[in-house]
Amino acid sequence: MVRKERHTIKHLIQLQDMVAARAQQQAALPKQRLQQLDKNIETMTADLPLELRTHFNRLIQKSIEAIVPITGENCSGCGFVLIKTVVNSINAGNELNRCPNCARILYAPDVPLTRTAPRRRWGDPIKRGIERFTAPELMIPSLKGTTKEEILMELCDNLCANGYVEDCHDLNEAALRREAIVSTAVGNMMAFPHVRGVEGGGLTLSLGISKKGIDFGGTTKTKVFFYMVIPTAASAFYLKLLSGLTQSFGTAEKRDTLTKVKTQQELWKALIAGTKKTIT
Ligand SMILES: [Zn+2]
Repeated sequence: MVRKERHTIKHLIQLQDMVAARAQQQAALPKQRLQQLDKNIETMTADLPLELRTHFNRLIQKSIEAIVPITGENCSGCGFVLIKTVVNSINAGNELNRCPNCARILYAPDVPLTRTAPRRRWGDPIKRGIERFTAPELMIPSLKGTTKEEILMELCDNLCANGYVEDCHDLNEAALRREAIVSTAVGNMMAFPHVRGVEGGGLTLSLGISKKGIDFGGTTKTKVFFYMVIPTAASAFYLKLLSGLTQSFGTAEKRDTLTKVKTQQELWKALIAGTKKTIT
């Protein structure tokens, strides 16, 4: 029984990751064909028992977060405080539990990834647009890596070195797992590697440029990397941000404003200028 439920939870998380990957690809390239992903989603959905399948489908149509981790005693989907017996049952993993408030399926994360939000200091100017999600120190004007793994590690290292995430190793593993489902390269020389389901803080974006471009699994070489760390609660917003960014830098001319910069400060300014109208 215990093993069966753990297996079901794993299955649901994988299925949800695929649905999220599909939503991501669609937000970036609405006309793209997604046959392989659709086929995988269909197969994995068909494997679920009827009642669970109906429940899961109903949830996932509302939001791409149908199965969410608990954070301490809270449902990370809606923040509802769960009673102790439910928390214990989730931690034991013996049965599938649902949040009494939002009906999402709940599970205990193996390794909770924690996002540490830098405190806003008194007197700091109020941030607008893209500035709400990123910072000058998260701009990397010239990535050194020449492989997918190296590029992801570099972006991840920088986030950790600047105190945005606690565990670099786990974050990087999660980003690699995500790339294994389907590459986050969307063509147009851009890729959107990311980690979902992170605890705490808001969405964080880091931008890295590879001058030469690398093979990141897309149809062309990838030069522009928007790396995002996404808390469960920001999941729906993330898709909007993603489509805003693809729109902002969809043409070669606009992308050049990012790829031709030399310094961190120049990249920061180019990102802000390029998203002024699209991300408000
Ligand atoms: Zn909930």
